Amino acid sequence: MNNIKKLPENLINQIAAGEVIERPSSALKELIENSIDAAATEISIYLSDGGKTLIEVVDNGKGMTLDDLSMCLERHATSKISDGDLMCIDSLGFRGEALPSIGSIANLCIESFDKSKSEAWKISIINSKKHVEPSIIRFGTKVTITDLFFKVPARLKFLKTNGTEIRYCKEVVKHLAMSHPTISFTLTIDSKKIFYWDKSERNNFEGTKNRLNQVMGEDFINSSVSVEMERDGLMLAGMVGMPTLNRNTGREQYLFVNNRPVKDRNLIGALRGAYKGLIENNRFPVAVLFIDIIPQDVDINVHPAKAEVRFKDSAKVRSIIVSGVRKSLESAGLNTATEISNALIDKMSFSTKSINEISYDSNNLDLNNINISPSSRFTENFDSDSFEKKKTYPLGSAIAQAHGTYIISENENGLILIDQHAAHERIVLEKIRAGFLNSNIQKQILLIPEVIELTEDHFDVIIKQKDNLLKLGLAIEEFDTNTILVREHPAILDKVNFSTLIKDIADEIINFGSEFILSERLDNICGNMACHSSIRSGRLLLTSEMNALLREMEVTPNSSQCNHGRPTFIKLSVKDIEKLFGRT
Ligand code: ADP
Ligand code: MG
Repeated sequence: MNNIKKLPENLINQIAAGEVIERPSSALKELIENSIDAAATEISIYLSDGGKTLIEVVDNGKGMTLDDLSMCLERHATSKISDGDLMCIDSLGFRGEALPSIGSIANLCIESFDKSKSEAWKISIINSKKHVEPSIIRFGTKVTITDLFFKVPARLKFLKTNGTEIRYCKEVVKHLAMSHPTISFTLTIDSKKIFYWDKSERNNFEGTKNRLNQVMGEDFINSSVSVEMERDGLMLAGMVGMPTLNRNTGREQYLFVNNRPVKDRNLIGALRGAYKGLIENNRFPVAVLFIDIIPQDVDINVHPAKAEVRFKDSAKVRSIIVSGVRKSLESAGLNTATEISNALIDKMSFSTKSINEISYDSNNLDLNNINISPSSRFTENFDSDSFEKKKTYPLGSAIAQAHGTYIISENENGLILIDQHAAHERIVLEKIRAGFLNSNIQKQILLIPEVIELTEDHFDVIIKQKDNLLKLGLAIEEFDTNTILVREHPAILDKVNFSTLIKDIADEIINFGSEFILSERLDNICGNMACHSSIRSGRLLLTSEMNALLREMEVTPNSSQCNHGRPTFIKLSVKDIEKLFGRT
């Protein structure tokens, strides 16, 4: 016989905590949301040891009576759904499970001031025991979580380093701060004040802009455009970066639905759609977008941590994002005649595909097995080589350059079409990698060191990896708060935009969190550097330069594809050409 019993309350809470409280940042999010729901205008946040030992949120909100205080620790007790309608939620919290969940996995203490009676109470759960006592606070509410997860040590093991946990926490604060410009935020980490973001008086676009300036930095404001569109009862507002302000992750895309931060694939896809043709496929725009929709048309109750949403009509939402963002980018004077080029590419894709199938056959060439050192190849022989001699090399002898982008070369078997930029990128990557591995990277000193201002996150990781970056040829120095100097760079890179390069490298490092080990991510980092070296497409090359590039490709490992996995050249054998013309 089964012996079915109801789970004890504390266990139910721990299970709920498993869903809602994944890490310190999720607990922090719940506390800040509660303060916002309590109409606070000042919120101060204190964290210690990545939030593992202390998460404290102090607000000047409406506070709680003693009755409320004892109720708020009961499961599914909330003051926020009065008429029992789940489809009409305008507060951030509504499940009434955050506080009891936290209380089941940590020591929790809540102090609150009751204005009506002018008295304050403190309720705490220490080692699962509840205490109620008078408190001395004179306004709002103060919630203190100490030793998160101490009752579920298995969870503790999954936490990352303090630095990474702090980064998650900061993301939470940023999101909530961006969507609440009329609230001041102060963040203190390990007793050090990190920032104070003063509030705006009015909740209008100026206020939001001012907050974005505080959170995202002036760089973002200067290189972005405002978005504002209203359609079919939907409102879209925010700021989006110009296509040139792009990153190699989507970390700086902040999306909100009814002021609630969401990470929704649909919305992210729509944003990507808006930049289609303006930005490379593997790059991500920077954006902050607020979507307002009537509560009945969106279900925010899909996900316990409330990060995903479900729209009644997601096509409508997608469409306003694509057209709203697009319109703003266009009005900023950007050339967006991409519809035409897109259509052309579509038309041509059939023929490119067939060329690919017939002939892109880099394996046959097997450049990687050619065992000739570069010096013997082109310093001595190549310039004096005759056209006929050069044709015997795998990548043949250059005969022309087309569109300033493609080299056409002839070898004994047929024709080769080479993407000069992709090829150059691969060569640069391999050179930097080899330089790093053999500790002999060639460096070039900048006549005037470049000053680069970074976000705090970027600054932290870059300074931490300073020694490693030096081995890659990038000499970096701390200069000022969140500001670095670049003094030297790998000699092979010329005309680099160091600011984007450094930010991309920082993103790459952040993406791998505390597990980042340079030697394992070497390809990505070198790839970043290569990507930013001079853009060779569009540059006219002399025949001797083209041949030099071909010879270098022949001795560079992996040179048959670029860093993004695209082919660097396509081979057309005489036989293929004959087939195309129906000669055989
Ligand atoms: P929810 O936010 O979903 O209602 P919580 O467990 O987070 O559930 O909070 C329970 C209740 O405690 C809230 O509904 C609110 O009435 C009260 N509360 C929590 N934090 C605060 C705060 N900072 N100020 C005022 N009241 C609060
Ligand atoms: Mg809540």
